[in-house]
Amino acid sequence: MTTLLEVENLTKHYPVKKGVVLARQVGTVRAVDGVSFRIERGETLAIVGESGCGKSTTARLVLRLIEPTGGTVRFDGQEISGAALRTLRRRVQVVFQDPYASLNPRLRVGDTIAEPMEVHGIGTRESRAARVKELLGLVGLAPFHAQRYPHEFSGGQRQRIGIARALAVQPELIICDEPVSALDVSIQAQVVNLLKDLQRRFGLSYLFIAHDLAVVHHMADRVAVMYLGQIVETAPKRAIFDRPMHPYTRALLSAIPHPDPRRRGMVKPLGGDVPSPMNPPSGCRFHTRCPFVQDRCKAEMPMLRELAPGQQVACHFAEVLPPHEAVAENGMSPVAAQRLALYAAAKARKAAKAA
Ligand code: ADP
Ligand code: MG
Repeated sequence: MTTLLEVENLTKHYPVKKGVVLARQVGTVRAVDGVSFRIERGETLAIVGESGCGKSTTARLVLRLIEPTGGTVRFDGQEISGAALRTLRRRVQVVFQDPYASLNPRLRVGDTIAEPMEVHGIGTRESRAARVKELLGLVGLAPFHAQRYPHEFSGGQRQRIGIARALAVQPELIICDEPVSALDVSIQAQVVNLLKDLQRRFGLSYLFIAHDLAVVHHMADRVAVMYLGQIVETAPKRAIFDRPMHPYTRALLSAIPHPDPRRRGMVKPLGGDVPSPMNPPSGCRFHTRCPFVQDRCKAEMPMLRELAPGQQVACHFAEVLPPHEAVAENGMSPVAAQRLALYAAAKARKAAKAA
């Protein structure tokens, strides 16, 4: 496999200013704070996390719609800077959450889909019109739809139009920023299936952004879980769903409704709101909501550590947390935290014996 996208230590800080005339900086929003990941050719990496954790900012940084405060983005081995930007603009496309906001309401759908080809000087007027019809077919729409306006379509159809537009210039990577979050569940599945289909046909790579894990289950090869501007766990999809290690990943998993209604509500969802990225908590940013919090978590920021093949976790206590199933049964109760203390003590005794 070859690496298509490589993101290293990407950071975006926004200064927060106060005052109108002599504005002075009163703080910094750490929207994205040292994010690294890579996407192999033909692979789907999902980024998952609650609203406000920096997913869209990460997407905009990769697309270079905004300038990073720090870090690098390499596409197909080349660092993205001024000169490389033009090829990036063609080879990386984006599909947004709200196609209605991203489609020009006054343009016929055919012109909207043809626009990126025009911008990049691809084809003639006639060949572009033919390509639009082909693209409409690829996303399950009909040639005559080219003459219609966005308001004449349903939400799911509008998202298909957005996908056709993204496909028009034959990109290698498509960034999908919550492409199905605004759609009914039944329609979500259709759009996800369409994206998977297109991936198989054209060998596409996806950076697929979602705020809940259920959506990425059918889509992702690997998952990166974000919290307050940082990646807290990244692993192959299987491991994320079968052996989640970070308490936040576990909480996101528990938030997925259980298929058996009798077991629903047994698991306590994650309490409290996401703290502000302007004043992120000290130490581990998740410590204010973590059911397993210990003193060390408040003082020392955990780094990502590889704890299983391809699975990296930023938690001081990931190895000694009680098994995920036990926690789910106990609903993240104080019992679980108590058990953690017991596990930790046992581990310390074992280490002392070995020494
Ligand atoms: P997500 O897509 O995960 O919901 P975003 O990337 O949109 O999150 O935002 C991350 C954080 O950065 C949020 O707290 C948001 O308010 C803040 N933010 C985003 N854009 C700006 C901006 N232009 N100026 C200041 N803060 C911003
Ligand atoms: Mg967003």
